[in-house]
Amino acid sequence: MIEASPIEGFFHRDKEKIYLGTKVNTIIRGSMKRYLDRLGFLEINPVIISPISDPLNHPVDDPTLSYYGYRYRLTKSMIFHKQLALVHFDKIYSFSPNIRLEPLERRGTGRHLAEFTQLDLEVKGKGREFVMKIAEGMIDDAIENVLNALDRGSLNPGLRRYKRPFRKVRYLDAVEEYGKNFETKMSQEAEEPFWIIDIPLMEREFYDREKDDEEGVLMDMDLIYPLGYGEAISGGEREYKYERILQRIAKKGQRKEDYALLLEAARLGIPPSAGFGIGIERFVRFILGAERISDVVLFPKEIGKFVL
Ligand code: AMP
Ligand code: MG
Repeated sequence: MIEASPIEGFFHRDKEKIYLGTKVNTIIRGSMKRYLDRLGFLEINPVIISPISDPLNHPVDDPTLSYYGYRYRLTKSMIFHKQLALVHFDKIYSFSPNIRLEPLERRGTGRHLAEFTQLDLEVKGKGREFVMKIAEGMIDDAIENVLNALDRGSLNPGLRRYKRPFRKVRYLDAVEEYGKNFETKMSQEAEEPFWIIDIPLMEREFYDREKDDEEGVLMDMDLIYPLGYGEAISGGEREYKYERILQRIAKKGQRKEDYALLLEAARLGIPPSAGFGIGIERFVRFILGAERISDVVLFPKEIGKFVL
């Protein structure tokens, strides 16, 4: 079969869907920016290529490019740059384009693209609770702005301003009640967003901080959208001590040479922090109640497809 030209596909986009997607994108980005600016955050520019990037907890293709003999990766998340920014600032955020050449299994989920934007933020010297409150306030504010600006009939019928604080469920309790596939089931059942907290160490990356009072469990959290829309946010407190980062890299079976620059920074002193990232396109999809993330994004980098 000959694939349709990406240009032809582009000319046949559903005008109303991409208009609404782009309009909601405009509203929520502005709203979240204003929310964080009011709290005294500084916006840092995204980093697109760097010698270090997020290892992630699932395999993605990790191409590198060579420039005057130096090796650079494409940004999968700003995690390490966020931690480094806090050497100089107290609270920062970035609208960060992430390139993740996701595996084909993620093609049909409706919520994965190979290129997306994360509003990624980090706060020095604060813990998980502090940033969870920020997330809840920022989401509420964005939803309020959307409800004020757009016709209800264009939006997800289940969308409203949700009661805060959102419910918190421990990861292991969720597994016990719903089994391994808890996230999908709980998201489908829920009518309000909820948090999954205390995620087991091997389920996440080496940079998330282990709990002081519970070995093998992280000071991490995910926010899950209701009505089956799945994960909205991942975040947590970060590991910042040199020896512990080293141990965690080893536990994950990763090579310390790949993180030499991070380790060098940790030796010089990275501050303790907490933060999270919220996927912008997924938030748009949820607000509009769209079936697929690609329906509401102007240039969706769909997995496994030749697209613009
Ligand atoms: P992560 O740290 O991997 O959980 O990514 C942070 C957030 O970015 C997630 O909670 C999602 O909202 C969003 N995200 C992650 N991967 C993708 C993807 N492939 N496509 C679209 N959004 C994504
Ligand atoms: Mg995640």
